[in-house]
Amino acid sequence: MIMQIKKLLNIPGTREEFDFTVPEERLALVRSCEFASPVQVTGSIANHAGVVTLSLHISFSLLVTCDRCLKQTVQAFSYNPEHIVVRRLENPEEDEENYIIAKAESIDLAEIALSDLLLELPTKMLCKEDCKGLCPVCGCDKNTTECNCMSQILFE
Ligand SMILES: [Zn+2]
Ligand SMILES: [Zn+2]
Repeated sequence: MIMQIKKLLNIPGTREEFDFTVPEERLALVRSCEFASPVQVTGSIANHAGVVTLSLHISFSLLVTCDRCLKQTVQAFSYNPEHIVVRRLENPEEDEENYIIAKAESIDLAEIALSDLLLELPTKMLCKEDCKGLCPVCGCDKNTTECNCMSQILFE
C-alpha cells in the first residue's frame, strides 16, 4: 500500500484517509507471529500548518502460545500509533522512532503498520493475566488440574 504524499507534504490543510488490509503475503514474512485474522489498518495523514501527522489504527488477532502453560489462544490486539512524516530529519539527533522519512514523497503504509505492530507487541504472551502455568514436577496444567507435587516436596 504505497501512498503518494507529495501534495500532503506541500499543502497545509490537506488531509487524506485510508482503510486497507495488509496483503497476506506480507504477513507471511513476519515469522515471529501467527496471524489468526487479517491485519486491518485505518487512519489518516494530515498536514496541519506544515506538520504532517500520520495516525494509524491497527487491529488484528494472533494465535498466541502462552509462555506459562503453552496453551494456544486467539487474542485480539489493536494499536493507535502516530508518526510525524518529513522529507528528511532537520536534526539527525532527534528521536527517529516517531518520524517517517518520505524521501521519495511516498510512504509504504503496510510496512509502517507492520513495524509498528511488532514494536508494540508484548514480549511475554499469556493466555490470561493470572495463568498459573504448568507444574514444574509433573507438568500438569495448574489452571485445570490440582496436583500435590509442590506440597509433597515441602513436607517430605
Ligand atoms: Zn497460560
Ligand atoms: Zn504436579
